[in-house]
Amino acid sequence: MNDLRAIAGALQQSRKVIISGHVMPDGDCVGSVAALGLALTQLGKEVTMALPDPVPEIYLFLPGAADFAIGESALTVDYDTFMVLDCSVPERLGVLRALLERRLTVCNIDHHASSHHFADYNYIDPQAAATAEIVQDLCALLGARITPEIAACLYAGILTDTGSFQYENTTPDTHRRAAALIECGAPAVMINIQIYEQKPLAHLKVLAAALPTLRLSPCGRVAWMSVTRELLASLGAKDEHVNGLINYARSVRGVEVALLFREIAPGRYKVSFRSKEAVDVNRLAARFGGGGHVRAAGCVLEGDLDRLQVRLVEAAVEAVKVSEA
Ligand code: AMP
Ligand code: MN
Ligand code: MN
Repeated sequence: MNDLRAIAGALQQSRKVIISGHVMPDGDCVGSVAALGLALTQLGKEVTMALPDPVPEIYLFLPGAADFAIGESALTVDYDTFMVLDCSVPERLGVLRALLERRLTVCNIDHHASSHHFADYNYIDPQAAATAEIVQDLCALLGARITPEIAACLYAGILTDTGSFQYENTTPDTHRRAAALIECGAPAVMINIQIYEQKPLAHLKVLAAALPTLRLSPCGRVAWMSVTRELLASLGAKDEHVNGLINYARSVRGVEVALLFREIAPGRYKVSFRSKEAVDVNRLAARFGGGGHVRAAGCVLEGDLDRLQVRLVEAAVEAVKVSEA
């Protein structure tokens, strides 16, 4: 069953709703949770906007984002409905996964090709450029007015998941949706400045320290970088300051697949995958227990950094060869 109307129906019956996205939240995740939270509040629901991890500083300007319940603090209240947004697998709910054990009505709204149907109601649309696009449709089904605040949150979600309308998930429909949101009052220029032109200095320091780790495979088609806990600690930087780094590896001429290895706990690495135009990195990441989209995916692995790099780079080089065959 892939019916957004059924989810709108379930929400109409609800009274106390908790909304969450995934661990290490991105702009689509924060924007979608905030937009749906504001819309449901407008409709008279009691709403908790939550996330397993803190909202990255660059998204705190979004309406509602500063009021999120973070981590276990969201578990102390009773709810009747759990909305899971932009989260392909239960594991990515982090500590909020515990809510799946309660007798709540669970709705999963997502656009990951690899998304699992773990909820009572699942609406998965891999054609959607961002979960925010689906939330935009859900707001219409619910009869919520798209206020400038809701529009700003939805616009930020679409902007960030399309790489500022540059990635191939961007369609004419994406632009029409963005135009409609600007007409509803989304301050597009301000949002762009807040997200891309107000970076914490620590972000640029991480970039400067990580660029020397950039390596290129002999075929020139795979590039990779790494960021260790030690490096972050030495700069006083946080995990969120690593976001976006992988784009530098992908931007190298001739590169088709970029990998970023970031140590999220001692000996535990989050690997990000990006491709330019040919390799399906969702499939590549799935071989290592992860997933995502055709051009952006991720997985988590444990082990020795050098060995992990050899394994994944080999697999990426092979995937490029297959795509060229
Ligand atoms: P990231 O590299 O964290 O920006 O993630 C790229 C895409 O892959 C996002 O759409 C994520 O939702 C997805 N993704 C990242 N990590 C994982 C994972 N461990 N398992 C499944 N999907 C993931
Ligand atoms: Mn996301
Ligand atoms: Mn998304």
